[in-house]
Amino acid sequence: SDRWSNLPPPTPDVVFTLNSKAKAAADPKINLVIGAYRDDDGKPMPLKVIRKAERILLEKNLNYEYLPIEGDPEFCDASVKMLYSGVKDLPRQRIAAVQSLSGTGACRLAAEFVARTTGVNTEVYLPDPTWANHKAIFQFSGFHHVKNYRYFDSNTKGVDIKGMLEDLARAPENSLVVLHLCAHNPTGADPTPEEWNLIADVCQKRKLQILFDSAYQGYASGDLQKDSIAARIFLARGFEYLVAQSFAKNMGLYNDRIGCLSVTCATTVASEKVFGLLQNIIRPMYSNPPAHGARLVKFVLMDETLRAEWEVELKGMADRIIRMRKILRDELVQLQTPGNWDHITRQIGMFSYLGLSKAQSQALQDRRMFVMLTGRASIAGLTANTAKLLAKGIDEVVR
Ligand code: PMP
Repeated sequence: SDRWSNLPPPTPDVVFTLNSKAKAAADPKINLVIGAYRDDDGKPMPLKVIRKAERILLEKNLNYEYLPIEGDPEFCDASVKMLYSGVKDLPRQRIAAVQSLSGTGACRLAAEFVARTTGVNTEVYLPDPTWANHKAIFQFSGFHHVKNYRYFDSNTKGVDIKGMLEDLARAPENSLVVLHLCAHNPTGADPTPEEWNLIADVCQKRKLQILFDSAYQGYASGDLQKDSIAARIFLARGFEYLVAQSFAKNMGLYNDRIGCLSVTCATTVASEKVFGLLQNIIRPMYSNPPAHGARLVKFVLMDETLRAEWEVELKGMADRIIRMRKILRDELVQLQTPGNWDHITRQIGMFSYLGLSKAQSQALQDRRMFVMLTGRASIAGLTANTAKLLAKGIDEVVR
């Protein structure tokens, strides 16, 4: 028998496929495909504070026994408290939190949770555009109606708040809306605090469910509190909502797959029920999560000295990205490249939507300057030197 030869061809992942191509390309080249932080020399950079935490971990001589189904409770607690940095009287007992396999795993748990509460006919609304994996996460969790709301205005290269509010106002009751907490991927455009309040208004009025995807807290501004303003607004307004947190970027723990799904509930009773359901979802999927990343993160978050050191390193990464944006924009201005490039410094977080057409992005790729065909570039991958080269490349392809 031959069960599987006739399977349809797999869908290639655009990001990982292009990254492999970029990695294989000859030097000189600029690889801005993957959202991963690089230092001033373009090298991957494990955080010093994580190295320290590793040493502490080793000295503690901990065992490799299973974690509980929901993961390391101290980690989950520290993760939730980090999300709400600066919040006094956090209603922790109303927040159910479980460890997840990084941000992707938290989103997937959230999807499974909604599938089991309001069902797979719940309409799911993703920003247009959004992180490439969101759609598949919800489709593979069984949702039949995965849609988009307007998010990006290609003229202003900022948030199309009017379009967004209109689309959300038309969403059926109970629809799930996915919101990027900060540093929207791929556009680098975030709502202002005033706009977050308008978004909250429409979510409240339309009785929408909310999932915040938080993959970049601390990366947008270098300040954990500033970057989580949206979560604090929804908390203060008494919403029920989910938050998917990732420590891949802000702690540089990409391959440790460490994240947290928290669900803010109306009551303590609800949060206990939610916690139980999440355990029931996790157990048949992967039984329980790995401990290593959770231990590193909790050491850093719970120890005052390590925490302070981390926040300095985090700010250093955010600042370097901001610096690269400035070099790139200034160089484009210097070259008198046709068009306005202010959006590059206005956008925040790891990525820039450069505002290039598919043909222009392809032309950059042909020059071995690898940006996505959507014009998305990981600014974190630039150095002072390559930022200037990229500007020259952009100048050539837009003329
Ligand atoms: N959400 C968004 C918006 C992201 O950009 C990312 C990282 N690319 C993730 C979630 C999850 O990443 P990870 O699973 O590595 O934490």
